[in-house]
Amino acid sequence: MNDSPRTVVGLDLGGTQVKGGFVLEGEQGTPDVEQTLARTVAMDTDLDAGADDLLDRLAGFARELGSNGPLGLGVPGVFEEPGGRLLRSANLKTLEGLDLGAELADRLDLPREHVCVDNDANVATYGEQWLGAGSGIQDLIMLTLGTGIGSGLVIDGQLYKGPTGKAAEVGHMVVRSLPANGSEDPDLRCGCGAYGCLERLASASAAIRRAGAAGLDTDLSQLCEVARAQPGPERELLFEIGFDLGAGLLATTAVLDVTCYVIGGGFGRSLDLLEPGIHAALAERDYGHVPPRLLPATLGASAGWIGAARMALDSLD
Ligand SMILES: [Zn+2]
Repeated sequence: MNDSPRTVVGLDLGGTQVKGGFVLEGEQGTPDVEQTLARTVAMDTDLDAGADDLLDRLAGFARELGSNGPLGLGVPGVFEEPGGRLLRSANLKTLEGLDLGAELADRLDLPREHVCVDNDANVATYGEQWLGAGSGIQDLIMLTLGTGIGSGLVIDGQLYKGPTGKAAEVGHMVVRSLPANGSEDPDLRCGCGAYGCLERLASASAAIRRAGAAGLDTDLSQLCEVARAQPGPERELLFEIGFDLGAGLLATTAVLDVTCYVIGGGFGRSLDLLEPGIHAALAERDYGHVPPRLLPATLGASAGWIGAARMALDSLD
């Protein structure tokens, strides 16, 4: 029997790319962050050849990374809990209905309980809480501002997913109510079916849409650059988007007494421009809550695989 530490692989499966890397058994403490980030590698997702082919290639990717212990996988989608079957995934429809953990355990000859599969927002949150902006913080919510708004909740250092795995979907919190006269703004109708979800107002996609509607540059990085350089309509728009985001945080804080939010995703890099609006929204209520800390995520696109690997490490405990 070999006594060397096992290699625990984390994978973050996206619609176009799979990011991956490894940590070693025993690294639950505080591995070197730079060294861990430097282990990030990627491969194309390539859905053309179907689910079996993708699962074979995921297993091959894990083997190349040295996998000989537990494996963690993040996937954008909704899972059946308990059980872990992928119920819905807008970008990975070909995998719907599959128990991805069982499929990978089979291919890698691992015990099923050592393959941990979770929503991509949850694994990213766990990654940031372990080695990123939330390191050392026991209670936080992470929001990922991208095409939509992903979110994860950590309570007492543990991810909280709720009895059916769908807790803390902050992006689908309704922050703009449906007008009683039925004259709704079609842009605010969410993919989930509800009206006025936070992600229809404050995701990167929403920001692009709102910039277009205001006659401003729809290239978000350009827009933010102008907003940073001078006062004007660009800065005002980002204030308004921040204010809407703040409405979501206000509601979330009222329910969960959240004291720390980690903000990630491409649009999250403009947190400095959103913060004035967020703070203005939060200042509307005085209920004795400590103003929550707003921290920019620090692990970037590596947060997902790192959190997935940490989840897999936990399965050894
Ligand atoms: Zn929604």
